[in-house]
Amino acid sequence: MFEKVLIANRGEVALRIHRACREMGIRTVAVHSEADANAMHVRLADEAVCIGPARSSDSYLNKSAIISAALITGADAIHPGFGFLSENADFAEMVEEHGITFIGPTAEQMRLMGDKITARQAAIKAGIPVTPGSPALESVEHAIEWAHKIGYPVIVKAKDGGGGKGMKTAFNDEEMREAYTMAKAEAKASFPSDVVYMEKYLQKPRHIEMQILADKYGHVVHLGERDCSIQRKNQKVIEESPSPALNQQQRQEIGEIVRKAIEQIGYTNAGTLEFLYEDGKFYFLEMNTRLQVEHPITEAVTGIDIVREQIRIASGAELGYTQSDIKFNGHAIECRINAENPETFTPCPGKITEWHAPGGLGVRVDSEIYSGYSIPPFYDSMIAKLIVHGKTRNAALMRLRRALEEFVIDGVQTTIPLHQEIISQPEFIDGQYNIHWLEHYMESRKK
Ligand code: ADP
Repeated sequence: MFEKVLIANRGEVALRIHRACREMGIRTVAVHSEADANAMHVRLADEAVCIGPARSSDSYLNKSAIISAALITGADAIHPGFGFLSENADFAEMVEEHGITFIGPTAEQMRLMGDKITARQAAIKAGIPVTPGSPALESVEHAIEWAHKIGYPVIVKAKDGGGGKGMKTAFNDEEMREAYTMAKAEAKASFPSDVVYMEKYLQKPRHIEMQILADKYGHVVHLGERDCSIQRKNQKVIEESPSPALNQQQRQEIGEIVRKAIEQIGYTNAGTLEFLYEDGKFYFLEMNTRLQVEHPITEAVTGIDIVREQIRIASGAELGYTQSDIKFNGHAIECRINAENPETFTPCPGKITEWHAPGGLGVRVDSEIYSGYSIPPFYDSMIAKLIVHGKTRNAALMRLRRALEEFVIDGVQTTIPLHQEIISQPEFIDGQYNIHWLEHYMESRKK
């Protein structure tokens, strides 16, 4: 097992990884930007190294600074968390070249599954159902030709896309011209490559994803699904597990398809296969070759510590259990709490004057915040995740309502009021929502 792990991230996920390491008797190295010197993960880690100025490109994305920090402190592994360098195959390769273990899949697996076009091809080969789609698009004319083959509406996406950016829908040729040009320009600005492709645009799907764990010896398990259909601007807001839309048989069927596919692809460590689900059918969207923000709801229903498993797998340990050992218990829901104006979603960094997190049975808060902490303006605005677990969906919902009521965050605006509003809507209570529900609801509320 590793003796010392460097955590190449910040915020709540850095703390999450630190906690798993601590419980495994592993020492931790925090890296931080100049703006994060007072962050909780820096305070709790055994060692801390400043890797650069506030801007992410100068610090959390600075590969050589992070690797130097690992070499200086003698860390034997690096956990990338999510975001930043977590899906950067070049970084994973560099880490390994320096004799340090990258906690995640191999660079080769990341390249295959991190690229949406090659991932779709691998998925098709492995028997996973995908949305009808095109190869890489070469020109507007080529895009229009493919749109006709697939049938409008379609969605143009960057092959390296992420974070809901650079996706454009088109319902006809005229919209296609604009969608192609805009998606390509956005991809160029935000991602390593400006290559785009298209998929059939589904109009009322749910977003359902499957969590998998795979060791280096070909053992693969799935940890069930997460329903992440409550979204705004293609970004998840609330997630729950299990999905209110699936029955036991559907869960088992998609679980087995995914498990066998991952076995065939030979992927290792933790990963998530994202699907759209409409009219009883699954359509593969993409694979995330890393830990996901919403992993705690899966931990709640399975009792498995996913970060611990990632570390064990990377160190060469066997899973030590099979699919039939995985038991699903109760229902879990997560709210992503952002420091934002809950109406306009403008980020609201600043000093937290009062902080009181809810507690009690079945309540988990993952956050780096403490009273007196100043949220720096340079990073993502998510400041806390509230996760509740109950025997039934209704019990989880009642608990979530109670926990949100107890939460006190003063000094900055947060999205807590929005969460309270969402979870009291009949469609949410009945589990009757798709990926467009939240935006439609917010539009209708304005009128
Ligand atoms: P990213 O990698 O940027 O997160 P994804 O491919 O995972 O992008 O898609 C993010 C979200 O965008 C999905 O959860 C869904 O809401 C929407 N979306 C993506 N592809 C489609 C599609 N083919 N039809 C309808 N909605 C889609």
